Amino acid sequence: MINKLKYPISSFKAKTIHIRYGIPRNYAKNRKLEFFPEARKKDLVLLEHDFQGKPLRLTKETAAAFNSLREKAKKDGIIIMPFSGFRSYAYQEDKLKRSLAKGRELNDILKFLAAPGYSEHHTGRAIDVKSPECKPLEEEFENTDTFKWLKENGPKNKFFMTYPRDNKEGFIYEPWHWCYKPWMESNS
Ligand SMILES: [Zn+2]
Repeated sequence: MINKLKYPISSFKAKTIHIRYGIPRNYAKNRKLEFFPEARKKDLVLLEHDFQGKPLRLTKETAAAFNSLREKAKKDGIIIMPFSGFRSYAYQEDKLKRSLAKGRELNDILKFLAAPGYSEHHTGRAIDVKSPECKPLEEEFENTDTFKWLKENGPKNKFFMTYPRDNKEGFIYEPWHWCYKPWMESNS
């Protein structure tokens, strides 16, 4: 149903932000990006405070599925450390603003940062994880036992890596970004 609505309310909110920062009108179309409505506050639960002490929220279903995934990993001697979950449009806007303030070009920023409305983190189903073996957001995460375990066991538990190498959306490779998609088959 939602896909049939031409302008979900949250898209107006995103659009306003896009105009404010001069994000090209064809940004989403050219990059083949999916629009993500913001998760509703009442659907979100606190998973835990991350290793930096920041609250990490996910939808209730995602939190339950993630806890079960993490338990399975633990039994195999693997530690999965989550460090980012739900992000609001306002949070995404703030990240954009900070990058621009550092003097970076908008086009460069949009390669690693989704514009507000287009980050899977808005859904409360996406989660960034790290391993005790390496720092967050490092490509070398792919060489850790945590990543190897996730690659094999994530999809079986409905967690999928959204941005593999050379992804069609034109984002950088993000081995740390996993999304809970209970409707997806594990071989896709
Ligand atoms: Zn992510």
